[in-house]
Amino acid sequence: MVPMPEQSPPSATHDVTNQPPPLAPYDASADAALLEGLRREGAGWAEDGVRLLGLRAGGTEAQEWGELANRHEPELRTHDRYGNRVDEVEFHPSWHHLMRTAVAEGLAGTPWAEDRPGAHVARTAGGLVWGHTEAGHGCPISMTYAAVPALRAQPDLAKVYEPLLTSREYEPGLRVPTEKRGLLAGMGMTEKQGGSDVRTNTTVATPTDEPGVYTLRGHKWFTSAPMCDVFLVLAQAPGGLSCFLVPRVLPDGTRNTFRIQRLKDKLGNRSNASSEPEFDRTVAWLVGPEGRGVKTIIEMVNCTRLDCVMSSATLMRKTLVEAGHHTRHRSAFGARLLDQPLMRNVLADLALESEAATTLTLRLAGAADRAVRGDEGERAFRRIATAVGKYWVTKRGPAFTAEALECLGGNG
Ligand SMILES: Cc1cc2nc3c(=O)[nH]c(=O)nc-3n(C[C@H](O)[C@H](O)[C@H](O)COP(=O)(O)OP(=O)(O)OC[C@H]3O[C@@H](n4cnc5c(N)ncnc54)[C@H](O)[C@@H]3O)c2cc1C
Repeated sequence: MVPMPEQSPPSATHDVTNQPPPLAPYDASADAALLEGLRREGAGWAEDGVRLLGLRAGGTEAQEWGELANRHEPELRTHDRYGNRVDEVEFHPSWHHLMRTAVAEGLAGTPWAEDRPGAHVARTAGGLVWGHTEAGHGCPISMTYAAVPALRAQPDLAKVYEPLLTSREYEPGLRVPTEKRGLLAGMGMTEKQGGSDVRTNTTVATPTDEPGVYTLRGHKWFTSAPMCDVFLVLAQAPGGLSCFLVPRVLPDGTRNTFRIQRLKDKLGNRSNASSEPEFDRTVAWLVGPEGRGVKTIIEMVNCTRLDCVMSSATLMRKTLVEAGHHTRHRSAFGARLLDQPLMRNVLADLALESEAATTLTLRLAGAADRAVRGDEGERAFRRIATAVGKYWVTKRGPAFTAEALECLGGNG
């Protein structure tokens, strides 16, 4: 009999040493700048809730949702098996878990329904911790938050839709909006020929016999989160560029025309779907006066700007936490990386910038909160500072992240 070569069990080839343990579970709210900012900007009452959400965000379950929502990306289904257009996007269950939690925690439109001073600060602090799970689902959450003040330009529509956009109920699926317990909103401005310069929009809005009701014909080149229930859309009406509310499902239960041509193949933000829709006799309701579309929708854009600062600050904090964790558990050249003088310099710079971004985010949220409550000085400050803050913090995001990633060496 030929003897078999002796086999070693796989573990016998080497021992795994000098690698960090998993980061989760950790407390995403263990952040002095965040908690101090929350109190300073008038939302100390929300601290217990933010701390609880921070524990959930850093927990193994929510961290895994973030991982899975990005690995199993959304899929577009243009038609059903019988050839009917459905234009639906399917998501992994993890995406829905993230969305459900974010909506239930009041991170979508809820602050607009709360009279309490600091409500917008509390929401922003919640976003700063919940964003440790993953960033993509923050897009529809942010747009839903931001749609409310723009919709107020049309009080009759706001009366119907605001209670649903500010609800804490997440109800995915395309149904008659007013029959749902909670709604999500998106926005369609950018077309192929112009994004920054939306005055170049070619989508045409034709008035019908019914006052305030139009039909749209045209396209959008970027419309994120196309599974939302309603969209604020810019189109050219007889009186000029105007803002419209476009529901995916009409009040009689039929689908409004919203043909999703394809989803964008994006470098990042992959858990979230971004689409190219076409409109053809699409029913739309005018929001605000004809010809004042930019003025109307800019209310929404301004609120999403605050969330751009918030999500970049969150990304900074999350990558700093990762870098700190790795360097605390990894040794090189006879010392923990965390104790190597040059690494300390890098981490200190990152920590300083992350704190500054978090502090700025909460200051801007405080300005938004006080502006909503009629403070004219804060309104003026918010107008300039949010745009400047968005420019700076989002610009620094990728450079900061690259530096934090380098702290992880090849693992990064
Ligand atoms: C992931 C993702 C999701 C998106 N989701 C949506 C969405 O849901 N809804 C929506 O409407 N849009 C969405 N957009 C589109 C986004 O709003 C536009 O891409 C953006 O407004 C820029 O427009 P543009 O792509 O046409 O670039 P352009 O306007 O062509 O700009 C190109 C470059 O020129 C610069 N530039 C423009 N004007 C000037 C100037 N006067 N002077 C100097 N430089 C200038 C710009 O800063 C930019 O760097 C999304 C984009 C991305 C990447």
